[in-house]
Amino acid sequence: ANHEETLGFQTEVKQLLNLMINSLYSNREIFLRELISNSADACDKLRYAALDNDALYEGDSELRIEIEHDKEANTITLRDNGVGMNREDVIANLGTIARSGTAEFLNQLSGEQQKDAKLIGQFGVGFYSGFIVADEIAVRTRKAGTDVAEGVEWRSKGEGEFTVADIERAQHGTEITLHLKDDAKEFADDYRLQGLVRKYSDHIEVPVRMPKTETAKDDEGNSIEGSEVTTWETVNEATALWARPKSEISDDEYQAFYKHVAHDFSDPLTWSHNKVEGKLEYTSLLYVPGRAPFDMFDRDGSRGVKLYVQRVFIMDDAEQFLPLYLRFIKGVLDTRELSLNVSRELLQQDPKVDKIKAALTKRGLDMLKKLTQDKEQYQAFWNSFGSVLKEGPGEDSANREKIAGLLRFASTHTDTAAQEHGLADYVERMKEGQQKIYYVVADSFNAAKSSPHLEIFRKKGIEVLLLSDRIDDWLMSHLTEFDGKTFADVAKGELDLGDVEDEEEKKAQEETAKAKEDLVKRVKEALDGGVQDVKVTHRLTDSPACVVLPEHEMGYQMRRIMEAAGQ
Ligand code: ADP
Ligand code: MG
Repeated sequence: ANHEETLGFQTEVKQLLNLMINSLYSNREIFLRELISNSADACDKLRYAALDNDALYEGDSELRIEIEHDKEANTITLRDNGVGMNREDVIANLGTIARSGTAEFLNQLSGEQQKDAKLIGQFGVGFYSGFIVADEIAVRTRKAGTDVAEGVEWRSKGEGEFTVADIERAQHGTEITLHLKDDAKEFADDYRLQGLVRKYSDHIEVPVRMPKTETAKDDEGNSIEGSEVTTWETVNEATALWARPKSEISDDEYQAFYKHVAHDFSDPLTWSHNKVEGKLEYTSLLYVPGRAPFDMFDRDGSRGVKLYVQRVFIMDDAEQFLPLYLRFIKGVLDTRELSLNVSRELLQQDPKVDKIKAALTKRGLDMLKKLTQDKEQYQAFWNSFGSVLKEGPGEDSANREKIAGLLRFASTHTDTAAQEHGLADYVERMKEGQQKIYYVVADSFNAAKSSPHLEIFRKKGIEVLLLSDRIDDWLMSHLTEFDGKTFADVAKGELDLGDVEDEEEKKAQEETAKAKEDLVKRVKEALDGGVQDVKVTHRLTDSPACVVLPEHEMGYQMRRIMEAAGQ
């Protein structure tokens, strides 16, 4: 029976559709990239599934994407012989947005932000972008390996609801027909479509084909009626981008490919493409995104690289190949070191995985190091991802020093909240005789900046790093050294300014301490065991007193976190 039903889009989809149509108008040609990207993914998935079961190809293993248009009807049709969808898949994939946190994200966007294409594009507009150019979309699809009668037709005008119906479909895979809006008729054009395929989808490994009609001519050069022959012409390059030599790939192609693998809308900041032969063979193409996805701090959010084994797609988000603190890195890993039937479970046990992970981690850190040469770009990176990178020293002791070199801090050097000072610069500015790297941790930048512990440092012109991110205490408990210099919390333990102080100053301090012994005794009695000790200090120049933590005591932030956790 032709079981037809009309269903409502999930609220988030309705919101997204509204925002997208408004904000992406000037970028509307990207709809084609998004649909081709989905078809390419569907072909990848079928190739993978067919490794175990060749029958899924249904005798048609030449994977391809076809694009046709009809000027009269104002339609564009995009067809693939990929994995296809059954009814359940269609309802889930083309009726909802699966990413958690989407609702909150969309609700938070202010009126002005809603017009910002980059913000909307942040979580990948995907399939729904078809509605920027179409006032109706029809999808006909059948999951590979299912019965001809199990085809599904999905239709919608993009206005809140869609219908699904059972259809018969001989061909597995998916066909999408866009009924173009009046102001988008320009897209029903050979030249335009070819240009877009080359611009956005050249790097797709699956051939993207378009029909070409030729007519035989008679001796006088006139077309012979009825002699039209249509052939399919491959429009894109159709080889995996990462497998091509670096020298032949343009920046535009690298950027277009990024948008496909990362499902991102904006350009990446930088990338690193490496082909490694020898003991461990792999090709990697890693990218640093231009901005953080809205769900970066959702630890269950997608992360990791897209894994291929000898050009065969294996899985998305293979998180085993990069450490958690580099979870913002996107890209592709292709290796012959793993077998084609590798699974997530097997990845966890394979010692080669750790070796590749160590190698990719190094690539990732080197890529960031290189990015530091461009101050502005690196600052953009740091502002988006710095707090994630700060997890590094705790997670990866082997690369601690390397990561330390990539960290950026606010500092008394400029006294601004911008985290823009690297440790190497700090070390360069150290006073003669200064042996330690000083820092203070507080709940906010302003609290750090006005900490009484800084008084003596300011007086002597010694720079102090001003830390106030939630993770900073944790970070500093793992950062022990940089460039041979240890770190010292100015609010902890004995104050040691190294050789910055001269003998005379030290002597004067000792004398003051002696003279004030009585006072110290009285203060101690008054506090009656509420503190461990009371001492005369030269930390302060203006304030009369301050609280100091013992050297090996947990910092304030850590205490608060532990307290909150009920410890
Ligand atoms: P994304 O590609 O980021 O997952 P999309 O909105 O582009 O998001 O697509 C949503 C989902 O719809 C895809 O994940 C996929 O499961 C399904 N889908 C879309 N197009 C196709 C297609 N041509 N063939 C099979 N499945 C598809
Ligand atoms: Mg997509």
